[in-house]
Amino acid sequence: MEHLTQRIFNCTGALLVAGLLGVYFFLDPEHHFFPKCPFLWLTSWKCPGCGAQRAVHQLLHGNVLEAIRVNFLFVTAFPYVIFGLVLEYTAWGRRQIPIRRTWYGYRAALVALFAVIAFGIARNVWGF
Ligand SMILES: [Zn+2]
Repeated sequence: MEHLTQRIFNCTGALLVAGLLGVYFFLDPEHHFFPKCPFLWLTSWKCPGCGAQRAVHQLLHGNVLEAIRVNFLFVTAFPYVIFGLVLEYTAWGRRQIPIRRTWYGYRAALVALFAVIAFGIARNVWGF
């Protein structure tokens, strides 16, 4: 029964991701009804995530440079996040203890937090 529940959960998640990717492929967030960033709306400052929806749209169309232009952090962190998901949700990944400790441990989380905060500050100071 637990396997059935896990399979239903996995299928639902996969369908949700596929649906979202379909929406982001066909609709450009710059010209459609997508929600605006509340931090930007309140402060007029870009948060580290601003432009991520547009970056997804550009990546789905193969426009990597444009995706980097709208959110450099999102595009460069994407492979890291995907690799982290592989380590977390595959049998192979769960055996990679040294890689998990080094690249996804406490210190790595602090580095990632610092990078996100630094990116958020830098993009508002230098306007990218
Ligand atoms: Zn934002």
